[in-house]
Amino acid sequence: MATILPERPKVGMVSLGCPKNLVDSERILTKLRADGYAMSPDYAGADIVLVNTCGFLDSAKEESLDAIGEAIAENGRVIVTGCMGKEAETIRARFPSVLAVTGAHQYEQVVGAVHEAAPIAPSAYLDLVPERDLKLTPRHYSYLKISEGCNHRCSFCIIPALRGDLVSRRPDAILREAEKLVAAGTRELLVISQDTSAYGLDLRHASYPLKGGGEIRSDMTDLARHLGQLGAWVRLHYVYPYPHVDRVIPLMAEGLVLPYLDIPFQHAAPSVLKAMKRPANEAKVLERIARWRDIAPDIAIRSTFVVGFPGETEADFDYLLQWLEEARLDRVGAFRFEPVEGAAANDLPNHVPEEIKEERYARLMELTARISAEKLDAKVGRILPVIIDEVGGDGATGRSQADAPEIDGQVHLRDAGHLAPGDIVQVEIEDADEHDLFGVPA
Ligand code: SF4
Repeated sequence: MATILPERPKVGMVSLGCPKNLVDSERILTKLRADGYAMSPDYAGADIVLVNTCGFLDSAKEESLDAIGEAIAENGRVIVTGCMGKEAETIRARFPSVLAVTGAHQYEQVVGAVHEAAPIAPSAYLDLVPERDLKLTPRHYSYLKISEGCNHRCSFCIIPALRGDLVSRRPDAILREAEKLVAAGTRELLVISQDTSAYGLDLRHASYPLKGGGEIRSDMTDLARHLGQLGAWVRLHYVYPYPHVDRVIPLMAEGLVLPYLDIPFQHAAPSVLKAMKRPANEAKVLERIARWRDIAPDIAIRSTFVVGFPGETEADFDYLLQWLEEARLDRVGAFRFEPVEGAAANDLPNHVPEEIKEERYARLMELTARISAEKLDAKVGRILPVIIDEVGGDGATGRSQADAPEIDGQVHLRDAGHLAPGDIVQVEIEDADEHDLFGVPA
């Protein structure tokens, strides 16, 4: 007689916030899959719904609370985790029926809460660890989290309060994870953390032995070099311009790491940077960017800026625009300053009125859109490598080395129906607009 396997409880997941949170969601789901749970793509089929929240901005908190409300209305059996877990009282006051609330990175607790709420009957047939991690990102690119937490105390940010000081993963463990991802089809590794350039500081940059011989040092450059040897694109996010960042630029020139740096500068005016308490706030950034471009001419620099920070004067803002005009960054995102509950910046004097924030935001976006359009226009006629994300009909969309998924631009291809997601192809660029490129496989 055939063995009848017990029904596996099904877990639904709503994941909010940044790519780092998405990595946490993947880990939680991977652990639950390994424990024998099945996944449900909708509320109706789930025995339990996990909501992985973001608490970075007040607007993100509202979005998280809305998501919890929706999950309760649609399913009723809800466990909350993630950054908003710090505010368990607020959540419980609004949603008394929530089954459990756990904080960011409390994998054991959240998995334990699922076991308690939807126990699983032990079965030798089901308790298998899956071959590879369950991924929420498309198969051809993967986020690789190298550390958690942050040693800085930027005055507008509550991440250190939510996530604690820097804790780096061992470089050999990161490399093993990256090898598995590449073996499973990943063509692009997106290195993330709160502060990638600080990687290994807490490990005192110690070296660790590698399985196949040799060793790896726990610092950004050595890690990037090893990752670069796996044959996938390697993209570095959240890098602060410390002096040692100069050492990764030659790896870009060698083709080991993508010529791409995501550096959240946030501002340029010295008095604003000081009030923000930004790390690596040094005056010679423009000169260094010029040097980086001498070594790796195609380097694309992406950054984010805050306009209307408390105390930002018209002169500070003009300084920022002038700086941007000279820096000619490839990709720029901007935010109007928004006080976040618990952030030190809220208590600073001279808050900027909303209409002035709006006006400055519009001026900054206009300038950076023009620079972006000029830089993209200069690529018309070139042949560039492009990674394919989606194929539909006769066309495809992908990204050049200068474009990270979800936050940067795209390359739209014609005559490309024969390609598949994850292919890396040479593309002749035929046209450009403010954000995107258009081309044809070369
Ligand atoms: S570097 Fe600053 S903004 Fe980034 S996580 Fe740390 S404290 Fe927050």
